[in-house]
Amino acid sequence: MRRSQGDATKMKIDVLTLFPAMFAGPLDESIIMRARKKGLLDLKIHQLRDWTHDRHKTVDDKPFGGGPGMLMKVEPLFEAVESLQRPETKVILLSPSGRKFSQQIARELSQEKDLLLVTGHYEGFDERVRESLADDELSIGDYVLTNGALPAMVVIDAVARLLPGVLGDDDSSRDESFSHGLLEYPQYTRPSEFRGMKVPEVLLNGNHAEIEKWRREEAKLRTEKQRPDLLK
Ligand code: SAM
Repeated sequence: MRRSQGDATKMKIDVLTLFPAMFAGPLDESIIMRARKKGLLDLKIHQLRDWTHDRHKTVDDKPFGGGPGMLMKVEPLFEAVESLQRPETKVILLSPSGRKFSQQIARELSQEKDLLLVTGHYEGFDERVRESLADDELSIGDYVLTNGALPAMVVIDAVARLLPGVLGDDDSSRDESFSHGLLEYPQYTRPSEFRGMKVPEVLLNGNHAEIEKWRREEAKLRTEKQRPDLLK
């Protein structure tokens, strides 16, 4: 379920993982921590093993049909998701097979009220998790990581910074890379000359129309050079 425009209520994000300790550093610092302290983001990290019932807290099993490695067991995942899920929760699997995460998807997710990020380990998920538990499946890129903790943190960071009130100035995310299908234009700060490298004159003359035009052109040039795929 989506948050309505101007809805000041916080976003809730739950994460299911076998490695809760991995989340402590990145999400306990800087902008994300401030968002949590301000009550804009309610983030809870859950240990999947808490939904097992055997002595060894088993969360993996061999794949039917053979093959290398182990898969995540279905029972703890189903129990965990069913106990954490609310009617408005969007359940997202992190997996290399998912659709590729992007700024556009981050923007869409930032409109949601409640996300549950389900992270894998070993060889990943039993297909039934994908078919009956997940509303969406996201990959952070075409490579394989050891588990879904880093991908979940990438998604949380990218989404949380788009929530109203999280960045010092909400306009900061308006003109940055990917916002208009382009990379960001070059930026400079003081001094205006450093080791013979000068800041482009146009940025120093205070003519905002010219600055805007220069930035649009530079963004396009940079995108053509570095990421022509974005212009297609
Ligand atoms: N056997 C799986 C495959 O070939 O697609 C890879 C499993 S990977 C070793 C273990 C877990 O890490 C996945 O279940 C997923 O949660 C996470 N993971 C690894 N790479 C990822 C990526 N690029 N995007 C999102 N999650 C990823």
